[in-house]
Amino acid sequence: MALVALSPTVAAAREPNILLIFCDDLTCQALSCYGDGRRLLDTPSIDRLAKEGMRFDRCLVTNSICGPSRATILTGKYSHANGFYNNSNCRFDGAQTTFPKLLQDAGYQTALIGKWHLVSEPTGFDHWEILPGQGIYYNPPMLTAAGKTQHRGYVTDVITDLSIAWLANRDRTKPFLLMSQHKAPHREWSPPLRHLGWDGDRVHPEPATLFDDYAGRSRAVSDHDMGLDRTFTELDAKLRPPPGITAEELVTWNAYYAPRNDAFRAARPSGRDLVRWRYQRYMHDYLACVKAVDDAVGRMLDSLEAEGIADETVVILSSDQGFFLGEHGWFDKRWIFEESLRTPLIVRWPGLTEPGSSCARIVSLVDFAPTFLALARVPVPEGMQGRALQPLLAGHSPDDWRTSLYYHYYEYPVPHRVRPHRGVVTDRYKLVHYYGPDVDDWELLDREADPLETRSFHDDPAYADRLRDLRAELDRLRHDLGDTADPPRAAFGDKPFTER
Ligand code: CA
Repeated sequence: MALVALSPTVAAAREPNILLIFCDDLTCQALSCYGDGRRLLDTPSIDRLAKEGMRFDRCLVTNSICGPSRATILTGKYSHANGFYNNSNCRFDGAQTTFPKLLQDAGYQTALIGKWHLVSEPTGFDHWEILPGQGIYYNPPMLTAAGKTQHRGYVTDVITDLSIAWLANRDRTKPFLLMSQHKAPHREWSPPLRHLGWDGDRVHPEPATLFDDYAGRSRAVSDHDMGLDRTFTELDAKLRPPPGITAEELVTWNAYYAPRNDAFRAARPSGRDLVRWRYQRYMHDYLACVKAVDDAVGRMLDSLEAEGIADETVVILSSDQGFFLGEHGWFDKRWIFEESLRTPLIVRWPGLTEPGSSCARIVSLVDFAPTFLALARVPVPEGMQGRALQPLLAGHSPDDWRTSLYYHYYEYPVPHRVRPHRGVVTDRYKLVHYYGPDVDDWELLDREADPLETRSFHDDPAYADRLRDLRAELDRLRHDLGDTADPPRAAFGDKPFTER
C-alpha cells in the first residue's frame, strides 16, 4: 500500500503517535508563519512547527462555529450528517462512529485534555479531563469521568501541564492519540498575567475593512450583531475583571488595566474613535492569548523531545475555525468570508512532510478523521465525507483532489444574528446563498478581483457563465453529500431539538 512507502521513518517500528494541539478561534492572521501583512504577532514556537512540517494555506471549515467543527473532526462528517448543527441546542451523539473510537479499537491509547464543548460526555477516550462548557481562563474547574477537578493557574498552562503529565505517565507499549485542546483564544480573550502589556502599548495596524459599509452585498451581511461598534461587552473590553481570577491575581490585572480603563472612561470616545479603542484593546488581549498558545506549543514540542518520541509522533496544530480580527468591523466567526472560513493547519510528520513546505490545495476539517485513520492503517468507514491528506502531506497533489468545498452555517438568530447560509468555495470564487424567513439572497465573491471580499459579482453579466457553473457545482455537492433537504427547524438553534 502506498502509505508504507510514503512514511518510512515513522512506519518502520509501529504506527506513529498523534498529538493534536487544537485551539478555539485561533486565526491565521495572528500567526507569523501565516500573517496577512499586518505583522500582528511573532509566534516563534508555531513558526518552528511550520519550519519542521507542512503549512496548509487553505484549510477550510464546513460550518464556522465551535461545537459543529469539533463534531465534524470526530466523525469525518458534515453537520447535517452528524447531527451537531449549532452551539445552542445540540448534544453530540457519542454513540456515533468517531476516529478516536476506531483508533482505540486498533490498539491506540487515547486521551482528550482541555476544551470539549459537545455537551455529552466524551466517548472513545481512555482518559479525558475537560473544561465544562466554554470553561474559564483563570483557575478553571474541569471534569473527569470520576468527577470535578479544580486547577490553579491560567487555562492554557493548565491544559499543557496536564497534557505533558499524561505523556509522562502514558502506557509506553502502545501508540497514542493525545488531543490537547485549548480554550484560547476564544472570547473573552483574557490574557495570562505574564503577557499583560506584552505589546508596549503599540498601536496595532487596522485592517482595511475595519469600517466596512457592507454596500453591494446582501442585507444578511449588514444586519449582523457581531461588530466592534455594537456588540462589545464590558467583559470583552476588560472594563471588568474575568471570572475565576483571585484577589492576588487581580492586583496584577488591575496594575495593567485600571489606569488604561481610567483613561478610556475620562476620554469617553464615541463613533469611530470608540471602535478604534475597542480594536486596540481586542488586539492586545486576543494576541496575548495567542502568545500563551505559542508558549504551550513550544512546551509540547520540547516534551516530545524530552520523551524521545519526536521522531515517532505526528504533530498537528489547528483550530475549530478562523476568526475576524476587525475585518469587516467584526470579531467572531460564522461567515463564509475568508477570515472565519480558513483555519490554521500545520502538520509535522517526520519522514513524510518536507520541512518548511506548504500546500495550497483546499483541505478541510472533514479530512482529519480519514487522515488519522489512514495513519494508523485503520480502514476509513463508509459514510465519512473527507479524504485522507497523506498524498498532500507527502508532497504530491493528486489530479482528482477536490477543487471545491461545500459550506453550510445554521445558527440564527442568537447570538450575533448571522443568517443561515450555504455555499460552494473554490480557489478563486465563492457562491453563497443566504436563506431564512426574511432573506433569500445570492452572492458571488471573486477573491482575485476583490481579495477583501467587499462586493458581490452575482448580478454582473460578465460572471454569467461562472455563476451557472458554480450553481451546478453547489447542486452537485449538496446531492453528493446528502444535504438537499431543508434543515430541521431546530438546526438553527432557536427552538429545542424535540425530535432527538
Ligand atoms: Ca471556536
